[in-house]
Amino acid sequence: MFYNSTQDKSKAVSSAQAIAQGISQDGGLFVPESFPQISDKLFCDMLEMSYQDRAKAIISMYLTDFSKEEIDDCVTGAYTKEKFSGENPTPISSLKYNGKDLNVLELWHGPTCAFKDMALQILPYFLTKALKKVSDDTQAVILVATSGDTGKAALEGFKDVENTNIIVFYPENGVSAMQKHQMNTQEGENVFVCAIKGNFDDAQTAVKKIFTDDAMAKILNEHGMMFSSANSINFGRLLPQIVYYISAYCDMVNLGKISLGDKINITVPTGNFGNILAAYYAYEMGLPVNKFICASNSNNVLTDFINTGIYDKNRKFFTTVSPSMDILVSSNLERLLYRLSGNDDKITKDWMNKLKSDGRYEVTVDIKQKISELFYGGYCDEDGTKNTIHDLFEQDKYLCDTHTAVAVSVYNDYVDKTGDNTPCIIASTASPYKFSKAVLTALKDKNMPESEFEMLDRLHELSGVEIPKPLLCLKDKKSRFSTVTDKDKMQKVVLSALGID
Ligand SMILES: *Cc1c(COP(=O)(O)O)cnc(C)c1O
Repeated sequence: MFYNSTQDKSKAVSSAQAIAQGISQDGGLFVPESFPQISDKLFCDMLEMSYQDRAKAIISMYLTDFSKEEIDDCVTGAYTKEKFSGENPTPISSLKYNGKDLNVLELWHGPTCAFKDMALQILPYFLTKALKKVSDDTQAVILVATSGDTGKAALEGFKDVENTNIIVFYPENGVSAMQKHQMNTQEGENVFVCAIKGNFDDAQTAVKKIFTDDAMAKILNEHGMMFSSANSINFGRLLPQIVYYISAYCDMVNLGKISLGDKINITVPTGNFGNILAAYYAYEMGLPVNKFICASNSNNVLTDFINTGIYDKNRKFFTTVSPSMDILVSSNLERLLYRLSGNDDKITKDWMNKLKSDGRYEVTVDIKQKISELFYGGYCDEDGTKNTIHDLFEQDKYLCDTHTAVAVSVYNDYVDKTGDNTPCIIASTASPYKFSKAVLTALKDKNMPESEFEMLDRLHELSGVEIPKPLLCLKDKKSRFSTVTDKDKMQKVVLSALGID
């Protein structure tokens, strides 16, 4: 299996190369040249398998240059009972909301309490093995732009991993108090964290630019280093996410909610379009899906795109209570467009160039049509988010975080509008305890405590839901990082963090 660049498909690299590099030097994203198919027999077999074995089966179809032993090692190292509190790292909670059945796929039982752990616990295993295949002693320098959750999950995954350094940039005023605290207290000898004056898009644009800067690549090369990415532009991030959609489908069959072969809908609270793209890739492999419901917050650039075929980032940017979705340039949409255009690298490149120069592009009628057949786009504003948290808790005593609330709200609208009652999996992307203040506000609690950790206690009092240990443990940890930089000085920060001045 080879991987092509979305902007130059004459490039074909191994999976090890695609993962080690993260992004193609031409600025395109690596995509599999074709999608392996899950046979009926494999679907049947997977019903009986553990999450780990399902993961091994799926991952080995893509990482064809990894040995069976290597893949076993990656999966068993990443998805332990200890790290993911239980046998099934991604359990489904069955709820009722406004008379509708919700199958909430909880993806946040990992060490940093967000779904990003599902990919970022295994990516370091992929990457260290990939590096050994493509080079001898090269050190990977992992640059991360984060809207809050990727940063911490990547730091936790890569801390003290041999031959890696990790540098994380986050928007100074664009993450929750807990997210900031999680990152600034990070331990490990090979980690560096820096806030930027700007938003996530500024951080992501600057990081992409550093990646593809020839002069920077040369400097790193002279020091025996190369850049790599832990953002969802790295295919190694998407692959583990394909697994949990297929696994969830098997669990739905085992729970008696559907029969093998039945179609499902999937609702995903979306920012960079990585998580929902992984669901789409699962569909390309044969997962029976009727509709992908793409849920946005007030930064509803994707809602408009799905409805009009025009992507336009020239709009007001909102800082919301669901900060991990405060994104106007959804990188992974590029991969969907490439696929839907029949792997047309020229047209994909053209649109991405227009996005860079004008902040806007319009897809062809044909592609717009394909998108609206498969995708529904909707959004939920701040009040809607809070009301959903409140009502879901009232109705079902279930506490959800702000991002999951956006998904539940948009799904609720979708069913009201269309009457489509196909069983639906809703991706729940973070623990409510990562966003305590917003969740307490939503519950209309009159006793809002001052400090973040008192808020955790208060939320626990109200809900009875256990506080995740990894968050409790942070209480007495000292902050290690306090650098704030201008967005045009990030390159300097990178070099100085690496000790190259
Ligand atoms: C990252 C994140 C999202 C958005 O996921 P994408 O893959 O970027 O679309 C949604 N919710 C939470 C909690 C996140 O951390």
